[in-house]
Amino acid sequence: MRILVSNDDGIYAPGLRDLVAALADLGEILVAAPDRARSASGHSITLHKPLRADPVQIAGAAAAYSISGTPTDCVALALRRLFKEPPDLLISGINHGANLGWDLTYSGTVAAAVEGALLGTPAIAISLASRNPEQTYHHAAACARRLAIRIQKDPLPPFTLLNVNVPWTGDEPPLGIRVTRQGKRRYDGGVVERQDPSGRPYYWLGGEIPEEELSPGTDTRAIIDGYTSVTPIHLDLTAVELLPHVRSWGLEDERY
Ligand code: MN
Repeated sequence: MRILVSNDDGIYAPGLRDLVAALADLGEILVAAPDRARSASGHSITLHKPLRADPVQIAGAAAAYSISGTPTDCVALALRRLFKEPPDLLISGINHGANLGWDLTYSGTVAAAVEGALLGTPAIAISLASRNPEQTYHHAAACARRLAIRIQKDPLPPFTLLNVNVPWTGDEPPLGIRVTRQGKRRYDGGVVERQDPSGRPYYWLGGEIPEEELSPGTDTRAIIDGYTSVTPIHLDLTAVELLPHVRSWGLEDERY
């Protein structure tokens, strides 16, 4: 099995290192990851400057590139140019911090997996839902390994991926796995405003605790309950249930 590994925390992040180590005996592991932390870069690509891809050594990987771009750049470059034979699977992570609910639109970890899925490689995004400084990645890495074996036996349909979040449960493993839908998770807390030395204001976004949906069956709820969340994701954002409503406006009958 050939597995491409990427992330958004940068090529030397402990989550990527531990993921590669856990996958190493499953086959040939290839790595293409950003040369620095690129969290919350969404599905952005670099169009207005060149990209560099420097070969580096990562323990357990057959080949690895440190790339001067976004997570999406890394996967696009890996699949379209750097590696001759296409991988059987892409795994993005293990991210430091949750990617739940509406986080998916901000997440570079998920975007790397999305890029794999839309270029035709089955993909998993995996995140450790904790910012505890004592967290370790071994339970999440074991989960990624188990899912890689599972997906090889029973592939996902084209243009779909799995978004996986593993709770931090200390030495004990999570309580189990819940297959979930995307919950709601919103950041609308305060913005930190300060003044620079010349008196101009500056601002910080982020850092606050998000508001989360607690409905049963959601990814957000699974994590709170101590379970690993596995959410199947597709790339179609169409609100199918809204089609009749918007059609009822008569836009299709008008000329303008
Ligand atoms: Mn990250």
